[in-house]
Amino acid sequence: MKDVPMKRYTSMRVGGPARLLVYPADRADLQAMVLRLNDSGIPYRYLGNGTNIIVSDDGIRDALIRITKMSRLHFTKTKEGAIAEVGGGFSLKRFIRECARRGLGGLEKLYWIPGSVGGGIRMNAGSFGQSISDTLTGIDILSDRGEIMEIETAPGDFGYRESLVRRSECVISGRFRLKNTDKGQLERDMDYVYQERKLRHPMEYPSAGSVFKGVDGQSAWWFVEKAGLRGYRIGDACVSDRHTNFIVNMGHAKARDIAALIGKIKDEVLAKLGVALEEEVELWGFNG
Ligand SMILES: Cc1cc2nc3c(=O)[nH]c(=O)nc-3n(C[C@H](O)[C@H](O)[C@H](O)COP(=O)(O)OP(=O)(O)OC[C@H]3O[C@@H](n4cnc5c(N)ncnc54)[C@H](O)[C@@H]3O)c2cc1C
Repeated sequence: MKDVPMKRYTSMRVGGPARLLVYPADRADLQAMVLRLNDSGIPYRYLGNGTNIIVSDDGIRDALIRITKMSRLHFTKTKEGAIAEVGGGFSLKRFIRECARRGLGGLEKLYWIPGSVGGGIRMNAGSFGQSISDTLTGIDILSDRGEIMEIETAPGDFGYRESLVRRSECVISGRFRLKNTDKGQLERDMDYVYQERKLRHPMEYPSAGSVFKGVDGQSAWWFVEKAGLRGYRIGDACVSDRHTNFIVNMGHAKARDIAALIGKIKDEVLAKLGVALEEEVELWGFNG
């Protein structure tokens, strides 16, 4: 597909066209696409569920590769539980539900993070004290030279919202070591997570989740709050009054409104509190 409006593919519901959006059918197809794009000198990126990115109103020059068709899920039983092998295009939420159905724990606190497994691994997604890297034991990656590599991973290979996966690499699949856990307990944990999110997050408006990374163990919402920016608005982009690390799209926000609001927050927090906030969301097509 050519000139695809990114507002349709991102949870923030903003963004102009991407040059090309392609859906490889399998590993061989993905490899062939990457080699073709390399040969023709077209830059490319990987798009998951688009829940951590804000794309410029002018769109992006890159081709986007989305591996939702590569969503195989397979469990191998072990003495303590199972090893799950899951495709990078699989929905993280659905994967966690499938684990819970089998009485397998280790990822339940990440329930309701709206991304894909590949996006979650790349971002080292986490919530309620659990990170995706805690149970991850390996990944299959496609390098920017079109080579498939099997890599063993340990939690130490990942940082706060950071992983060993580079922007030019694709997480084709991940392997997770999961533990036998009481199904009722898993249901209760997942329900707790959902209730907390419903209470604290502005789930009724489009957003990209937390905009800024925490600083020295302090959540970023605290700095935004202290800088007096709760409810601050530029156009239809607004600092949520429910959770001040969320920027919500109140209706017809433009990507430039959101970018301006991010800039305003960083300036105010630096001026008033002396703290330099860093984005957790990725801004695509803004030229710095
Ligand atoms: C309401 C809401 C709540 C959220 N809550 C949380 C939370 O609690 N914790 C948290 O950590 N995040 C949270 N997020 C942010 C987001 O869901 C996560 O960062 C998620 O892991 C992103 O996955 P994605 O598939 O949407 O990736 P995208 O947004 O599509 O992409 C994000 C990055 O991952 C890369 N990427 C995507 N797929 C692949 C792949 N297969 N291989 C290689 N790179 C890839 C992209 O190129 C990009 O660099 C929230 C977002 C929303 C909207």
